[in-house]
Amino acid sequence: MKNTIFEKEKLTALFEKLSTSSTILIFGHKSPDGDSIGSTLALHHYLAAKGITSQVIHPDGFPNFLKWMKGTDSILCFDKNPSEVKELIQRAEVIFNLDYNEQSRVGRELGELLTKSEATKVMIDHHQQPDDFANFTFSDTRSCSTCQLVYEFIEANDDLRLISSEMGSCLYSGILTDTGSFRFSSVTEKTHQIAAQLIAAGVNHSAIHEAIYDVNTPERLKLLGYTLNNKLEVLPEIKTAIISLTKQELVKHNTQKGYTEGFVNMALSMLGIDVAVFVKEDDKMVKISFRSKGEIPVNEFSKMYFNGGGHINAAGGASQLSVEETVNKIKKELPAFLSQLTQ
Ligand code: 5GP
Ligand code: MN
Repeated sequence: MKNTIFEKEKLTALFEKLSTSSTILIFGHKSPDGDSIGSTLALHHYLAAKGITSQVIHPDGFPNFLKWMKGTDSILCFDKNPSEVKELIQRAEVIFNLDYNEQSRVGRELGELLTKSEATKVMIDHHQQPDDFANFTFSDTRSCSTCQLVYEFIEANDDLRLISSEMGSCLYSGILTDTGSFRFSSVTEKTHQIAAQLIAAGVNHSAIHEAIYDVNTPERLKLLGYTLNNKLEVLPEIKTAIISLTKQELVKHNTQKGYTEGFVNMALSMLGIDVAVFVKEDDKMVKISFRSKGEIPVNEFSKMYFNGGGHINAAGGASQLSVEETVNKIKKELPAFLSQLTQ
């Protein structure tokens, strides 16, 4: 089935604009994941194959297990190069916003710069309730990943032949990581067809699985062991499991970027658990990850109590409280939220 969000007239108008623009920027969201890195780089490679130059910009750094993707060396990070990024935003004629639905997802300062910019904005995204900030909005909230949408964008332009193994590897990685390795209900027949096409284009799927998932270090496994042993709270009456880590605990275990990736899914993998929460103290705030099974909209809970959002089964938010107070707030508010769902 063709994705109808990529209408021909819109694409023609967009490519007309791109062909006359000299500064084209592609932004991903804060704390980038596989879909964010994969989709921004894949779009960059695709535009390059069409003779269009672009610059990928991310608010901050990304975990080592994503650094093998082609083009990661050329990504500009706002936290490391603020003046260069500010200067580029001032000159920008087109700004792509990938894998996020509101400009604040790039962080407060960068979000304000994007909001002020008069560049033509393009959004390609799959998160619920997209903000209306872009001149070209390509949003499909049923899609499993932004990488699937970038593939469909390329397909709608009749350009599938331009997908190289490197571009395909970026797309495959985003689909892989945003679908929990093809397991979430957002995966469709089309997703598997895309995976097949990417493998046909030269993508080595088993090497990608290895590069992304077989990256444990003794420190990470010890941190996981410590967390599951000491910091896992099971609340059977609301089918919920909560894990939490303070800054002190993270420092003590010599935690590197990306070490806690996937911990929340461990909690969700328990029999009889429908909601998993991971509360983690970051440098400036407490970050919360929510996961759920079935019809439990954790994005709504996160929006209601933690200024967050995301997808029905995978969402995030932030808290100004301490880790302990945040966990207590979740324990206080979640039972009522869950019980009103079944009424
Ligand atoms: P994660 O738990 O992996 O950080 O995020 C899960 C999902 O929720 C991702 O799709 C992510 O984009 C979204 N998300 C995470 N944190 C926030 C947040 O603070 N605000 C919003 N709106 N979405 C978030
Ligand atoms: Mn995504």
